[in-house]
Amino acid sequence: MAPSPLPALAPAPGRMRAAVIRRERYGPPRDAFRIEEVPVPEVGPRQVLVKVKAAGVNYNGVWAATGAPVDLISWRQRRGQREDYHTAGSDASGIVWQVGPDVDDVRVGDAVVLSCGQYPTASQHSTKCSTAHSEIWGYETNHGSFAEFALVYGYQCHSKPGTMNWESAACFMLTGATAYHQLHGWPPHVVRSGDPVLIWGGAGGVGSAAIQLVRHAGGIPLAVVSTKERAEHCRRLGAAVIDRGDFSHWGPLPNPDNARAWDEWLAEVRRFGTAIWDAIGERRSPRIVLEHSGSATLPTSLYVCDSDGMVVTCGATSGYIADIDLRFLWMRQKRLQGSHFASPAECTELLALVLEGIVDPCLSRTFDFHEIGEAHQLIYENRHPPGNMAIRIGAA
Ligand code: NDP
Repeated sequence: MAPSPLPALAPAPGRMRAAVIRRERYGPPRDAFRIEEVPVPEVGPRQVLVKVKAAGVNYNGVWAATGAPVDLISWRQRRGQREDYHTAGSDASGIVWQVGPDVDDVRVGDAVVLSCGQYPTASQHSTKCSTAHSEIWGYETNHGSFAEFALVYGYQCHSKPGTMNWESAACFMLTGATAYHQLHGWPPHVVRSGDPVLIWGGAGGVGSAAIQLVRHAGGIPLAVVSTKERAEHCRRLGAAVIDRGDFSHWGPLPNPDNARAWDEWLAEVRRFGTAIWDAIGERRSPRIVLEHSGSATLPTSLYVCDSDGMVVTCGATSGYIADIDLRFLWMRQKRLQGSHFASPAECTELLALVLEGIVDPCLSRTFDFHEIGEAHQLIYENRHPPGNMAIRIGAA
């Protein structure tokens, strides 16, 4: 990392302001976050304390605020951690304030973009992101970015491009690197030139990055959305678009003994398949389906995915119990692949694409610190603007 442009900084004060979630406030994000004064976390070996300039808003904050599907505070306490509050936030930009023992490559004063994957033996160059013992900072761990100071490992720090403002730098890493790993991390199903790729929630954070990454690889991005504004955003990024509001077969599969319901489902999912062909202008099915929408869409994803193709999922926005018709999976030798965030090296590769202007962070809206609950409420209600949102914390 480049030498620090700043002089050595003063030690962190003992306490800081943080937008904190507590067990008794679990529920809609608007009321779950509250700004409180809490201790600045202690910096241990390989760790770095970062003064947060801006933080990214994403679903991790929603799941943390609602306490569902996991009560994170109780879960962490069962593992021996004492804090009875949670500071969420899995994306940020900021300035390195304090460096613990055994940290190479990162210096006090560095301007950094943070990535959220924590792996026991990782370095900045690690290409693996095995989920064994891994954790997502700001979700499974405390001391995330919705505070004046955040605690991370040195390898989570990436040089912030000087050309980017704090808010843009803070908003894209979690969603962008997740899409990068989904599209490049699962050979032989990596996106290739000419591949049609179906992208659910194309105007969302993961979706916006996926459209741009597919285009960069020479593939054909096809985005699914639910509003005209989101359709326009996806077209601007270069995707063909389908409005899911034009179809009605979402959610669990019908009972196979109910022939009529089954025929209706098949007719509708085939109509969706035809809409894919119409949108891309040829009779080809998606070689990769980029999933994160979950129970509402997984049966359709598995049906429309091409033979020998892959449905790759990183989430379950609409619910995590989803139906699978196994016949579509084995008869057409399709692959259903789970995918979780990205390796440090993939984060660096994504950042390089952002720096080159190939991937736009798609910052749509910036909020002030006290508006963290409102920003997450928009996501919770699926009313947020296309792209990614950021919170201004220390940035002027
Ligand atoms: P966004 O809210 O930015 O985008 C999600 C999109 O999903 C929305 O734009 C919406 O698009 C779409 N959506 C919502 N409900 C449905 C539905 N019922 N059917 C189809 N589409 C729906 O979220 P992100 O892109 O930031 O994250 C998406 C998911 O991925 C989240 O569940 C998140 O937790 C997960 N995730 C997982 C990561 C990991 O490492 N495992 C990392 C990052 C995200 P529209 O209504 O326009 O169709």
